[in-house]
Amino acid sequence: MTTPTVILKPKRAQPFYARHPWVFAGAVERVEGTPADGDEVELRSNTNNFIAKGLFNSQSKIRVRLYSWSETENLDRDFWAKKIDYAVSFRETLNLRGEDKGCRLIFSEADGISGLSVDEYGGYLAVQITALVIGVRREIILEELVKRIQPKGIYFRTEKGVGDLEGLAIQDELVYGTSPPPDHFITEGSLRLFLNLAEGQKTGYYLDQRDNRQTAAKYCIGKSVLDAFSYTGGFGLHASQMGASAVECVDVSQPALDLAKRNADANGLENFTFVKKDVFNYLTEEVEKNRRFGVVMLDPPKFARSRSAIPEALKGYRRLYTMGVRLLDRGGILVVSCCSGLVALNDLIELVSQVAAQEKRDIQILEQRGAAPDHPTSAACLETTYLKCLICRVN
Ligand code: SAH
Repeated sequence: MTTPTVILKPKRAQPFYARHPWVFAGAVERVEGTPADGDEVELRSNTNNFIAKGLFNSQSKIRVRLYSWSETENLDRDFWAKKIDYAVSFRETLNLRGEDKGCRLIFSEADGISGLSVDEYGGYLAVQITALVIGVRREIILEELVKRIQPKGIYFRTEKGVGDLEGLAIQDELVYGTSPPPDHFITEGSLRLFLNLAEGQKTGYYLDQRDNRQTAAKYCIGKSVLDAFSYTGGFGLHASQMGASAVECVDVSQPALDLAKRNADANGLENFTFVKKDVFNYLTEEVEKNRRFGVVMLDPPKFARSRSAIPEALKGYRRLYTMGVRLLDRGGILVVSCCSGLVALNDLIELVSQVAAQEKRDIQILEQRGAAPDHPTSAACLETTYLKCLICRVN
């Protein structure tokens, strides 16, 4: 049986020779053969040159996801096993695997496995499948993950909306092994962190900010710190451990704040205040009260989910930064993070510069940072860069 072939429209092949993995429906001229959703296909130019091998999904705007640029390689079990091993081995060289460690083992396109992300929390895995073509291979993928990683348990975690985009139905559930015990924790630096990988946000914890949290903490010694959008307290806990005089964590999620409190207690950290409130309202009120902090940290959720949402998102970030600056003592530290992939580092720097002018404050950018290295960027798929973090000094 010959492999079905997807033929591109004229002049649409360049990104795929350059190894970008997403073939959108609009680039496709025709399909030769009758691939079922999830089937392997060959991608060819309109002059019938082989470009890559991928997996087909008629229900997704991403009609083909590409995984191999070799004509002789098949997307079989052995192929997935090798991909998984290449990704996991790298994290092992970073010393990010272990009994009490948290790490992203596989990061979708950034690791050449579009549609699969795997986080490991002290031997338990949270697996996120965001493509139907990976969903139909879930048994093989699970078996290979078990073989390579030997986890104690595996959860499936789903992202809202992905089911509709892909025609994929996956439930959040334990699919292998056992659930972690109630006192399950990971360590980050010298902090002990409880998390909830069955029900917490995303896959339980925001591992991508690991290094930024520890770096930001260095600027907090002796200072009062606002950790806005705190989730389970990551930034504030590190700040407190580093010697902040007081930490205020603000988030809309009560379960997140409860876990933040449990984390503070477990690490013997005091002087915490937990506020369940919308951060925009909170900041507005505190600005009105003329409140001041030594450090303000802002780590909001993704504001821009599509290109058309970018202008609104930039307005949102600008409001946050403006209020953050107003709450800062002279010489205070502003730590702003942005996980909207559609907003670039330069856009954030530009926003900070606009806020400096508008608020008539001198702002120095001390550090321009990204995600931790277990969240790499694929040079062929720059959409895999998403997290930016600026540490600024505000006079
Ligand atoms: N800083 C955290 C991660 C933050 S994720 C860490 O290091 O782990 C973003 C958080 O913002 C989530 O916990 C979410 O509950 C919260 N959130 C989203 N919108 C909010 C709003 N308008 N006001 C307050 N919290 C909000």
